[in-house]
Amino acid sequence: MAHRSALVPVAPKLSSRQEQLLEALRRAGRELSGQDLHARLRASATPMGLATVYRHLRQLQQWGRVRCRHLPSGEALFAPTECDEHHLTCVDCGQTHRLEHCPVHALELSGEELRGYLPLFHTLEFYGLCPDCQRRQRRTASEAVEAAGQSASLPSA
Ligand SMILES: [Zn+2]
Ligand SMILES: [Zn+2]
Repeated sequence: MAHRSALVPVAPKLSSRQEQLLEALRRAGRELSGQDLHARLRASATPMGLATVYRHLRQLQQWGRVRCRHLPSGEALFAPTECDEHHLTCVDCGQTHRLEHCPVHALELSGEELRGYLPLFHTLEFYGLCPDCQRRQRRTASEAVEAAGQSASLPSA
């Protein structure tokens, strides 16, 4: 039996289109949506349709070569599996920051927890309110209190 690294799933050889997609994702250096990827490939010598892009992305995900995460807006972002990145996202304005390091890099599941699964990648997202949105919400809240106070002090007719 051929030697096989413990972390590389048995995947069929990628087609040239799939290689092209993976290469475009690597070159981007950041996560891309299917639309972004489609737009980047449109400029290349061998463009492909949006449906084809999604079909290959799904296949690459199934083979453990591409990872995917969803934004609060529902948009799916893709990156090569080896890219171990995590984000802090504002639930109000959607502003997102990449964390400097992976907080769970050393975390491993026990053999029992893995139930025979081959681990490929993990996702971990932090959500909160950015400073701007906190300020705006505080302002809105204090304006509401002020408005309530004014209407309470109005002389009754
Ligand atoms: Zn915000
Ligand atoms: Zn991580």
